[in-house]
Amino acid sequence: MADVQYIQSLLTQHADFPKKGIVFLDIFPLLRDPFAFETLITHFMHHITADTIFKSPTKKIDIVVGLDARGFLFGPIIALRLGAAFVPVRKRGKLPGVCVQASYEKEYGTDVFEMQAGAIAPGQTVIVVDDLIATGGSASAAGELVTKQGGQLLEYLFIIELTFLKGTEKLNAQSYSIVQSDD
Ligand code: 5GP
Repeated sequence: MADVQYIQSLLTQHADFPKKGIVFLDIFPLLRDPFAFETLITHFMHHITADTIFKSPTKKIDIVVGLDARGFLFGPIIALRLGAAFVPVRKRGKLPGVCVQASYEKEYGTDVFEMQAGAIAPGQTVIVVDDLIATGGSASAAGELVTKQGGQLLEYLFIIELTFLKGTEKLNAQSYSIVQSDD
């Protein structure tokens, strides 16, 4: 598909970032090009309206959950286009008020994600968005927060999936990625 190739062509690789041995895929060139950014959002919207929404018991998506931090860049745009709410998942200590928590494994040690309590009402339909899935630790913790609040998680959406890390096996709902990278 031409739009997938176009999106893929704008991703750049950075060796040894954020540390030696890691090849980081940068999505920011996509956002610097308004036509590419629009293509990205339109691609997600087409997938959601042609596929995801029909799996919803109400044929509607109530909430888009975005992950700290790059999920905040396009999650709210998708939410607005769907007429849905946007709910952020942030690293511990960044959100005010009572929060629900889920921990996940990082390369070294454990990290904690939080969501404001009551941000999702029981039974509401939810999709989770982030820029990239690697090991799946952060996305699965976000999914745990959705289910802890009684939300009905329909799908995880990513721009990029690092398929060789098999992160989607950790997820408790189906997932969709625009670009798959196996190296
Ligand atoms: P995971 O928890 O699946 O191992 O890591 C995914 C998280 O780390 C995502 O929130 C993502 O933003 C970030 N991440 C890890 N590697 C990369 C990368 O190469 N490029 C980008 N853009 N994000 C990455």
